[in-house]
Amino acid sequence: MNLSSPRPIHPSATAPDWERVRADFPLLMREVNGKPLVYFDNANTAQKPLSVIGAVDEFYRRYNANVSRAVHALGTEATDAYEGARTKLARFLNVRSDELVLCSGTTFAINLVAYSWALPRLKAGDVILVSRMEHHANIVPWQLVAQRTGATIRVAEISPDGSLDMDALHAAMTPEVKLLALTHVSNVLGTINPVREICREARKRGIVTVIDGSQAAPHLSVDVTAIGCDFYAITGHKMCGPTGTGALWARRELLQEMPPFIGGGEMIKEVSFDGTVFNDAPHKFEAGTPNIAGFIGLGVAVDYLEELGRNHIEAREQELLAHFTEELQRVEGVRIFGTTPHKAAVVSFLVEGAHSHDLATLLDLQGVAVRSGQHCAHPLLQYYGVAATCRASLAFYNTHEEIESFMAALKKVRALLG
Ligand code: PMP
Repeated sequence: MNLSSPRPIHPSATAPDWERVRADFPLLMREVNGKPLVYFDNANTAQKPLSVIGAVDEFYRRYNANVSRAVHALGTEATDAYEGARTKLARFLNVRSDELVLCSGTTFAINLVAYSWALPRLKAGDVILVSRMEHHANIVPWQLVAQRTGATIRVAEISPDGSLDMDALHAAMTPEVKLLALTHVSNVLGTINPVREICREARKRGIVTVIDGSQAAPHLSVDVTAIGCDFYAITGHKMCGPTGTGALWARRELLQEMPPFIGGGEMIKEVSFDGTVFNDAPHKFEAGTPNIAGFIGLGVAVDYLEELGRNHIEAREQELLAHFTEELQRVEGVRIFGTTPHKAAVVSFLVEGAHSHDLATLLDLQGVAVRSGQHCAHPLLQYYGVAATCRASLAFYNTHEEIESFMAALKKVRALLG
């Protein structure tokens, strides 16, 4: 196996030409309802560059074969490309590749921790600490564990601006807390949590940390080794890769101690009717045929993001966020959820007197795609006392002109609904 060791992430020097970057995304050229598409639903899923689409296409055209089983040429090529993607992803996150379990996405990754790490360990009296701003993928698996072990869930509250209440969080880290499950970036508020500082505090208290990196890995220069967590979960489709791809990084000692979650082929060394000797981590967690084409595509997506430069992606998105927020604040009757200065380009909002679904539907008629609903974060919306919000989430390939089009469309909608 090809092992990569953690290395510092170096910023790239020159900023890309964003107009040319946009041309890499064929979908962005289409029209919706007779209008040029304005795709502001990137927190839901990101669009794919030609290089990723081409890599998936090439796999099926030229070397489609199963991985790790066939000795023929196609099998070797497929295995090399698949394992190459693991190496690239490990480098991207600054972790060792033999600590990276490839899986279908964050949902699977967190469930793997829940079933393989938490379920055999937790017991009545133990506490699982989560924050108010978690996605359901980082709540429901813990509730399932709690039901089966007798452990309880404790919630770390937020402040009205959408930041974590750090005093409350530290106070909540009592000796009963065995696990802290926290998002790196909120998919509703955009809040970037100080995960490094939080993991340091948790470690001092012997609390195992699970960080949901779904909304962070595509937008920030994530260095998992520097964060110092125990588990880090990502999902490929939000970082310009294909759907059904993702990964769980875990400390080697934890991976070694954990029993497999799913059994089957590929995760074993030897099977007889007397028992099975499992393969080493990470393979013992990867039963069955994986999404080979998807991971090859994800490897190319990682190349693409690194070529652009994650420092440049971050700066570009911050610039778009500042423009978007400034303009949105000027629209009468708008309420923004998540106003911390340290946030990603995710803006949830409501317009006085308008239902968010009506807003999103009328925006769609003008070619603007935003998400409306509860964003898989019911407890967070309950905190704000609203049933749903509209969410605009921007990516580096969006433009200032699109922000202007969005604002014009929103003003029209406001006039219609008002
Ligand atoms: N966590 C967060 C913060 C998310 O935004 C999402 C996707 N909306 C998930 C978890 C779940 O990711 P997936 O559906 O790709 O498993």
